Amino acid sequence: MKKHNFSAGPCVLPKSVMQKASEALLDFDQGLSLIEISHRSKPFVDVMENARALALELLGLEGKGYKALFLQGGASTQFLMVALNLLEKRAGYLNTGTWSDKAIKEAKIYDDIYEVASSKSANFNYIPKGYDISEDYDYFHCTSNNTIFGTQMKRFPESPIPMVCDMSSDIFSRQLDFTQFDLIYAGAQKNMGPAGTTLVIVKEDILGKVSRKIPSMMDYKVHIGKGSMFNTPPVFAVYVSMLTMQWLKDLGGIKAIEEENEKKARLIYSEIDLNPLFKGYSVKEDRSNMNATFTLENENLKETFDAMWKEAGINGLNGHRSVGGYRASMYNALSLDSVKVLVEVMSDLESKA
Ligand code: PLP
Repeated sequence: MKKHNFSAGPCVLPKSVMQKASEALLDFDQGLSLIEISHRSKPFVDVMENARALALELLGLEGKGYKALFLQGGASTQFLMVALNLLEKRAGYLNTGTWSDKAIKEAKIYDDIYEVASSKSANFNYIPKGYDISEDYDYFHCTSNNTIFGTQMKRFPESPIPMVCDMSSDIFSRQLDFTQFDLIYAGAQKNMGPAGTTLVIVKEDILGKVSRKIPSMMDYKVHIGKGSMFNTPPVFAVYVSMLTMQWLKDLGGIKAIEEENEKKARLIYSEIDLNPLFKGYSVKEDRSNMNATFTLENENLKETFDAMWKEAGINGLNGHRSVGGYRASMYNALSLDSVKVLVEVMSDLESKA
């Protein structure tokens, strides 16, 4: 039985949330399923309103000029939606991985993009620092956590222009001053809910400044005006995201989960550093608390190690093809006990080798 889910997604959620979600599929409103009631009915409108409010509350952004939206098309659609809504002449992008690279490619369709810095030549094993952000750009875009390479921005630059951040793989995992961002987006499918919805948090006053015509589905203002219900919303994904946010709030919010996430990260990285059979992929100061990437020093041990972690009930440890080796994704719902199991397997390998 697979008990310890280290998969990079989609998606890793608390069992209690899965339980409530499955009940809602059978009976959400007087015998009707969540997915068969009207999305305009009060029970679902309440879900949407609650989900939007919880997102702002957890991030400490209520009453500060931000709106929360639950859109479709994944974070990949945000790559172009950000550009369509904010890019007039030129924007600055920090290139820290595959997803930033894709965001840059999409934005380039609409206007000029300047890469303020990139770690591409080192296969993205670090986060560049010490770059300038010109006041002349329309906005600055960065990716807070690089899911594939296992790096995470620990600090954000002081940006003289609106700062846009892709937080798909570390949203709700750590405390930050979220007011430093003007637009945050995150595909639900790591820390929040099933694939199918993308959370967008946008400061309203940065909108409406570009001269191009924006198709309605791509226009943040249209979605805000319709309470995130411009078209049929992905009801199941929004509902499960709401349940997960409620779970997090009941747990003590981001502060509480951050402490757990730090314990998990300390445990795995200390094993990677102390065990001579393993080598961390990313540079130490930029290591991600969500996705720990590492390789075996001796590839001949691969078969034995793979058999051992599978035997221990671990799932989803294989690394992404662009890095190889292993990736232990430790999203909010993964317990410290699961990390202990993995670390035990790693140390057992050392005693066997
Ligand atoms: N950005 C980051 C940081 C990601 O990790 C991912 C997917 O894993 C994406 C963007 C793409 O998200 P989607 O598949 O929702 O388009």
